[in-house]
Amino acid sequence: MEIKVESGDIAKHSAKAVIVNLFDGVKSPGGATGAVDKALDGAISNLIEDGELKGKRGGALLIHTLGRMPSPRVIVAGLGKEDKFDVNVVRSLMGTTLRRARAAGASSVATILHGAGIAGLDATACAQAIAEGAILGTYRFRRYKYNDNDDENATKAIDTLHIVESDESKLAAIREGVERGTILATAANHTRDMANEPANALPPAALAERAQELSKDAGIECEVFDEKKVQDLGMGALMSVGIGSEKPPRFVIMKYRGDPDSDETMGLLGKGITFDSGGISIKPAAGMEAMKGDMSGAAAVIGAMWAIGKLKPKINVTGLVPSAENMPSGSATKPGDVVKAMNGKTIEVINTDAEGRLILADAICYAKEQKLSPIVDVATLTGAMAVALGPGATGYMSSDDSLAEAIKAAGETSGELLWRFPLIDDYAEGLKSNIADIKNTGNRWGGAIIAAKFLHFFVEDTVWAHIDMAGTDDSDKDKGVYVKGSTGIPTRTLVNLVLGMAKG
Ligand code: MG
Ligand code: ZN
Repeated sequence: MEIKVESGDIAKHSAKAVIVNLFDGVKSPGGATGAVDKALDGAISNLIEDGELKGKRGGALLIHTLGRMPSPRVIVAGLGKEDKFDVNVVRSLMGTTLRRARAAGASSVATILHGAGIAGLDATACAQAIAEGAILGTYRFRRYKYNDNDDENATKAIDTLHIVESDESKLAAIREGVERGTILATAANHTRDMANEPANALPPAALAERAQELSKDAGIECEVFDEKKVQDLGMGALMSVGIGSEKPPRFVIMKYRGDPDSDETMGLLGKGITFDSGGISIKPAAGMEAMKGDMSGAAAVIGAMWAIGKLKPKINVTGLVPSAENMPSGSATKPGDVVKAMNGKTIEVINTDAEGRLILADAICYAKEQKLSPIVDVATLTGAMAVALGPGATGYMSSDDSLAEAIKAAGETSGELLWRFPLIDDYAEGLKSNIADIKNTGNRWGGAIIAAKFLHFFVEDTVWAHIDMAGTDDSDKDKGVYVKGSTGIPTRTLVNLVLGMAKG
């Protein structure tokens, strides 16, 4: 889909559908919506009068213009209550309305710059939200759908989105927002492409190849350690998770140097379990197919690094992806086994399904050896976090208040809700092993925090945050910018975090 920015009058646009908007409770629309209403001889006002059109948030009413306007269709997007309106509403409505337009067969769509008129939002921010919402909301994963001729929607696509603005002085600002929004949304879609891919097509070596391809495209350095190198470096925790699989582990290092004069480098670490069967502590069959997405943290880091390479902020960032397939077999790690991480610390493996923290332990050791700070790790780590927050928010913990604030703010900018959990030091007690330095699981209660305390044991005093996205990595329905499947969370939050920490 190409996004074009142009000056003009939406009521005179010849796209196959035009999108206007309405606040909840407005009886007679003004601005562009008013102009379209007039062209339609008051059709919009009549629908409001009849109670069919209310302007509720998430609404997308399609009206056929029957020759009264150059465009055959008008979609009225509901903005919800005026006092709750922000760029998140804009981002979300673009997904909803464009899916509606696509289902109707509109190959081209024109939209006004929602929010920049009556609501007075910044034109660049609105344009960014429009581009992000459009690209995220129309995402589809159709690689394996080549025989699906019955699915009418599969052949329909929106080729062009026109952003139409009457005030020519705003066009440059709008183009700037579109450019940034396109990069952010495309990054999240790269993440979704990896997370939606079935595990047989994306073992650790293939995930590493994706990282290499995307690094090359973004002009950043990428190095991949194979299982021999991983073994030689002493990453015994990572090795122990992959040892039961025919598909060996990989360790990916992506380097972006935007501030070569500085010797400080931030680290983004992502859990890359390409399939989590649970290992010998095997999971129940129901829902196990979703475990192809247990590399969503890694995918988010790879997607974010791609965007950072494209946006070129003044900061140094290294992305680290430990990757393994967790399988039961004659060679698999068993409960009770003791493995050694890269820093020499020993771990008693109580439950082989608590594997994410094992591979992250080695990534944290490597990050510390490289003196990366702050360290932010991202993982589909615990079912406990999914139980605690559900699909509406992503939980995180941090050893540092200002980093915690920065993560929250980056989430707000992205429209992704991040909720801070406490790091309760007492919970580390439960991780004491009889025979090793630490064990990989403790009590059941507060499982997400206990997992974080396990990571904290390896992080020591480095400034650090841990994002547990186990409840938000995928969606069971189409809603706003999300479609069924991978959400791409928290790719955009990571990029916005880095942009916020950069010196320019
Ligand atoms: Mg597991
Ligand atoms: Zn896992």
